[in-house]
Amino acid sequence: MEIIHVSAECYPMAKVGGLADVVGALPRYQQQIGHTAKVVMPMYRTKFLFDNDWDVVHKENFSMGKMNFDYTIIKERHNKLGFDLYCVDINGLLDREKVYGYDDDAERFCAFQIAVTEWINKWEHLPDVVHVHDYHAGLIPFMMKQCFAYGKLKKIATILTIHNAQYQGWMGWEKAAYIPVWDTWNWGLLDWDNTVNPLACAIRCADNVNTVSPSYMLELMDNANGLENLFKKENAKCSGIINGIDYSVWNPSTDTYILDNFSVEDVEDGKALNKKKLCDDFDLQQNLPLFVFIGRLVGEKAADLLPEALSNALSMYKGQFNVLILGSGEPSIEHALYSLQSKFAGYYNTQITYNEKLSHLMYAGADFLLMPSRVEPCGLNQLYAMRYGTVPIVRRTGGLRDTVKDIDEENGYGLCFDYASLYDIDISIQRALELYKNTNKMMEIRKCMMDVDNSWPASAQQYINLYNSVK
Ligand code: ADP
Repeated sequence: MEIIHVSAECYPMAKVGGLADVVGALPRYQQQIGHTAKVVMPMYRTKFLFDNDWDVVHKENFSMGKMNFDYTIIKERHNKLGFDLYCVDINGLLDREKVYGYDDDAERFCAFQIAVTEWINKWEHLPDVVHVHDYHAGLIPFMMKQCFAYGKLKKIATILTIHNAQYQGWMGWEKAAYIPVWDTWNWGLLDWDNTVNPLACAIRCADNVNTVSPSYMLELMDNANGLENLFKKENAKCSGIINGIDYSVWNPSTDTYILDNFSVEDVEDGKALNKKKLCDDFDLQQNLPLFVFIGRLVGEKAADLLPEALSNALSMYKGQFNVLILGSGEPSIEHALYSLQSKFAGYYNTQITYNEKLSHLMYAGADFLLMPSRVEPCGLNQLYAMRYGTVPIVRRTGGLRDTVKDIDEENGYGLCFDYASLYDIDISIQRALELYKNTNKMMEIRKCMMDVDNSWPASAQQYINLYNSVK
């Protein structure tokens, strides 16, 4: 089967969050089980772009409303990722340093999607499946079915994976004029609440829809940033497939980003050396349990609760634990987390930045990973933490509910709580401090969680089954 994934992110070309990790891994695992999987994404000006060799495979132009754009499709020459990676270059629109966050993001992602659809429309052998990820590619199933110029694409199966339903790409109706001539009788497919909603449109138009965990799909029917009724209505074609993790990148025995490699046999020694490096670098206490948080500092991750929760706990259980934070996001949260540093020097440190290498070292050297998320479609951090023998402390939501078993359950290895509240975080920190004192139990659960199989092959096959069900 030939599959083309369309995404705004793909690791290592461009990563903001878990979307990149998934799109950077799933196609490789699909290749390994005998399919042809390709990725097409925007050409941003990232390090990966400049460090690699590219061939131009296609050059054309298209109009978007009254504007005209030249576009170029380039392909990474050496198949470094284990699949064909294509990037769309549209001068002035996509070739920027950041992935998101520009005033003209609506124009950028519309242009990207039109270029991709135009290009696929030129292929002699069409793909079997166009697999779009999140709202940035959400207009493609609509365009393939409703735009007169793309009639030959109508029969191709389209799949939407929702990595995060909070972001929907809302646009004013005037921007519908960007879409190449389409059957206006079907305007309702684009509309949600008097705006063009690319995510809602994709949910309606894709042949099948999945989220990245079964629990998140259930939760979306009650809480989907306005799309609850749509999820209820389209429920029959919706399912959840849990993400795998890429063991070629996230493997403590081969990871080149960490100080000391380890496996389940020497996890205690390996973690101790990585922890020492973290404690030396960030002025923390090696002999105390180390709690870390890694992620976007936004309300979805309940990062707004952390300053108060940590300040309370660091005062209450003074000298009993360390915290290291790595993240960036909302300035008020960044500031509040940063300002704890002087108050709790020696026990608390914060890195307000994005740092892939440091994140690996933190998964390897920490004892506990905090994830009090309000919303967590799948969550990869807890899976990485488990792989590196770090106990996840998670709120029971979305993928966290599906992947973390509390230590009070049989073969449990995590600490789970129900509410994104200061109280629940506090109780969990207390439970963690108790657990840490029980060295044997800590050793036992580290081994247990490192043995949990969260690899990609099973999930990659589930996607193939999904494609087959709609082909
Ligand atoms: P989301 O996609 O909602 O941000 P996920 O848990 O699915 O959350 O994926 C987050 C990914 O981004 C993980 O690979 C995590 O290690 C990484 N990450 C998040 N913030 C940072 C950061 N500041 N520095 C390094 N890696 C980060």
